Amino acid sequence: MNTADTVRTPADLAHWSFSGTALAVLGHPIGHSLSPAMHNAALAGMARDQEPFAAWKYFRFDVLPEELPAALSLFHRHGFLGLNLTVPHKVIAFDHVAEIEPAARQIGAVNTLLRTEHGWRGFNTDGHGLALGLRESLGAVLEDAHVILLGAGGAARAAAVECLRRRCASLWIANRTAARLDALLAVLKPVADGVPLRGFDPQSPPAGLPAGALVINATSAGLHAGDPLPVDLARLPRPAGVFDMIYNPPATALLRQAAELGVPHANGLSMLVHQGARALEIWTGAQVQAPVMMRAALEKNHGTNG
Ligand code: NDP
Repeated sequence: MNTADTVRTPADLAHWSFSGTALAVLGHPIGHSLSPAMHNAALAGMARDQEPFAAWKYFRFDVLPEELPAALSLFHRHGFLGLNLTVPHKVIAFDHVAEIEPAARQIGAVNTLLRTEHGWRGFNTDGHGLALGLRESLGAVLEDAHVILLGAGGAARAAAVECLRRRCASLWIANRTAARLDALLAVLKPVADGVPLRGFDPQSPPAGLPAGALVINATSAGLHAGDPLPVDLARLPRPAGVFDMIYNPPATALLRQAAELGVPHANGLSMLVHQGARALEIWTGAQVQAPVMMRAALEKNHGTNG
C-alpha cells in the first residue's frame, strides 16, 4: 500500500508535514475509493511534461458525518487546494462552504471543493461525469433523449438536473419510496422549463412510457447480491440503452437483464472517471487525460463501490 492508499483521519492533520499541493477525498467509509488511484495516476502523467505537478498528491481521509463541518475548516487551515466529497458528505457540506456554483446549487449537493481565500467554493461534477460517461460507453447524448431515471437520492438528483439542463425530450423518474419521489419532483419542477417531467411507481410502469428511452439506474439496488431489480426492463417499452451508475459489481442484475434482452448497456465506471477528471481540471486549470484515470480505475476496481 503506498502513502496515498493509507486511510487517514482528521486527527492525522495535527502532525501534517506534506509540503506539496495536497488534494483529498473525504468519505465514510473510504477505504475502497478508487479516487486516489485515479487522481495520482493522472497527476503522475501530467508531471512528465509539467514538472510542478510532481509535487501534487491526492490523499484519502475517513471523516464521520458529524466531524465534517470542523474537518472542512481544518483542511482549509492546512492549505489543502481541493477536496472531493463522497457518501455521506455531499449534501451535508452544502451548508458549510463559502460559495456554490449554480449547477451544484440546483442539485443541492457538492462533490468537489476548491480552496478560495475565504473558504471553499463548491461544485458538483456528477452530472458532467454522467453525460460524458453515457457518450463514451453507449454513444448516447441526453439532449433530445427520452430518459427513464431510477432513484430519488443524491445521484438521481444530479442526473435529473443534468438531463433537464441539457433539454432532454422527456424525463420519467421512478423510485421505491413515493414520498421521496414526490419531494424530488417538486425540487425539479422549476428547473424543467417546459421539459415534460413525470414520476411513476417502478412496480407498475405506466402505459405512456416512451420507447427508445435511455434507462439510467441511480438507485443503490444492485450493489449487493440478491438486491431486487430497480425496475423490470421487460415491463418497459424497449429502451435504446441502459446505464447503471453502479460499477462494482461491474455487471448488476439490471445490466444482465439488458444483455439478455439485447439492449446496449454500460456500468458507471466511465461516469466515475469523468466526474473525477472534471474535478482535477477545476483544481489544476490544466487539461486532464481521462484515459489515464480509466486505466488506474480499472486496475483497482475489484473491491467495493465507492
Ligand atoms: P442515496 O442513498 O442518496 O439514494 C439511494 C437510492 O437508491 C434511493 O432512491 C433509494 O430508494 C434507492 N434504493 C436503495 N435500495 C433500494 C432497493 N433495494 N430497491 C429499490 N431502490 C433502492 O444514494 P446516492 O444517490 O448517493 O447513490 C445511488 C447509487 O449511485 C449508488 O449505488 C452509488 O454508488 C451510485 N453512484 C455512482 C456514481 C458514479 O460516479 N458512477 C456517482 C454517484 C453515485 P428509496 O428512496 O426508496 O430509499
